[in-house]
Amino acid sequence: MSFGCANIRYVTNRKVIALGSYKSLSKSKYISGLQCLKLLWVQINDPSRLPPTPPGTQNVFDQGHEVGFLAQKLFPGGILLQSEDFGKNLKETKASLNLRKPIFEAGFSANRLYCRVDVLNPSAKDAWDIVEVKSTNSVKEEQLEDVAFQRHTCRTAGLKINRCYVMHLNGDYVRHGEIDLDQLFVMEDVTDQLDAHAIGLEERIAGMLDAVSLPVCPEISIGGHCTSPFGCPLKDECWAYLPEHNVFTMNRLGSKAEDLLAKGILDIKDIPVDFPMNVKQQIQQQCVVCGKPHIKPSEIKGFLDTLEYPLHFMDFETFETAVPMFDNLSPHQPITFQFSVHIIESLESVPLHISYLGEGKGDPRPGFLSELKKAIGAKGSIVVYNQTFEKTRLKELASTFPEYEEWVEGMLERITDLLVPFRNFSYYHPAQKGSASLKKVMPAVTGVSYDDLEIGEGQMASLKYMEAEFGDIPEEDRQAIRTGLEVYCGQDTGGMIWIIKRLASLE
Ligand code: SF4
Repeated sequence: MSFGCANIRYVTNRKVIALGSYKSLSKSKYISGLQCLKLLWVQINDPSRLPPTPPGTQNVFDQGHEVGFLAQKLFPGGILLQSEDFGKNLKETKASLNLRKPIFEAGFSANRLYCRVDVLNPSAKDAWDIVEVKSTNSVKEEQLEDVAFQRHTCRTAGLKINRCYVMHLNGDYVRHGEIDLDQLFVMEDVTDQLDAHAIGLEERIAGMLDAVSLPVCPEISIGGHCTSPFGCPLKDECWAYLPEHNVFTMNRLGSKAEDLLAKGILDIKDIPVDFPMNVKQQIQQQCVVCGKPHIKPSEIKGFLDTLEYPLHFMDFETFETAVPMFDNLSPHQPITFQFSVHIIESLESVPLHISYLGEGKGDPRPGFLSELKKAIGAKGSIVVYNQTFEKTRLKELASTFPEYEEWVEGMLERITDLLVPFRNFSYYHPAQKGSASLKKVMPAVTGVSYDDLEIGEGQMASLKYMEAEFGDIPEEDRQAIRTGLEVYCGQDTGGMIWIIKRLASLE
């Protein structure tokens, strides 16, 4: 098993089970149970405690359904069992098995386990293959757990299972015209990989069934399992007791934060002097204790001296879809739909603001590129925050639109990363809480936050853009979203000017 909750203090009790109600386990609940028994217990026994599904997660689900629908087309003559009623689904599955055709959403139940299989494909003799359809570009560890559970449930229900596959998207596929389904998908035989995940599976299932049948929620320590492999929906509830500067906010502390927690050390200021910390972590602790920023004027001057005026502050926004929407696009390839550029001739000059926001249902990338080329002057540094993102997007665009290749080459050489002095802790403010991200640095350095913005972070910007340009919403709402996007992206680049000015005042 590759993931799961650490420090489980609750020991399940078989006697309690015998008295408990007979709760059952689906494949999604099994995955939740691998992550955390508390999460599983709440999902089954007290689901009202779960917050609404975040828009980003819902978008992933929606795109997964679209991918699943397309995958079915690769199994001609398949039978779709649509009923949401599980009893009806079981009956329909039983009736369909005799037909020896591909079955979509076949359901199986045995020993308090149940699952629905994306595609059950007739295999050798009276056996079947399981095909799990995923909207990712590769097979993930947790998907193998999912398939291992399905295979176990099907076999327990008496079905002969031959091979198991994960059918995922092909990251190398580039759309040209109509979607080529044979190219869009990759069928990966994972049968042999399941063996490792099958070891101890029955014991894990038994432990989960024990846990969900208990009258009280298992007590589970927080830790890395709260964020991996999925962000847990109960994190706000479980983490609420931590102090503001808790050990999990320590820069790159990793699993050592859990070691501290196990010793009862919650606050960064309480980390003992003999605890091994690197220089950045020591700076962070000192800043928490004294409540003041750490400033290295010589390093900041060194960074500022690398800048060549006029300065172009540049930021991109992107969205992505599992199934490529446009030509010259691969599954999950980010699509640049917006940029903001602020230009200053000197620290004292009035900034010039130029922006682009794609409009309509077409590919925004050609307009993005032509407008960006007009916006960026022939000389001067191009300042971005976290250069990997903008540089990677520019390279992708140059590869798709080769007429811009030479221009992009020149752009790449001029890019300077404002992240550097913050990642290096040349400047560190306790309000950053161990992070050098722009969303933490800007409020800490300039006092301007994203909290009051209608759109305040990148994923929300992507979803709102898709809603505005591809959704069916009133024009008034569409315009409100576009205004929110302009304000958000403009704050990223305008804010970088304020940060530079603040750094310059510290020299
Ligand atoms: S936040 Fe962590 S401890 Fe709480 S339910 Fe989720 S995974 Fe378990």
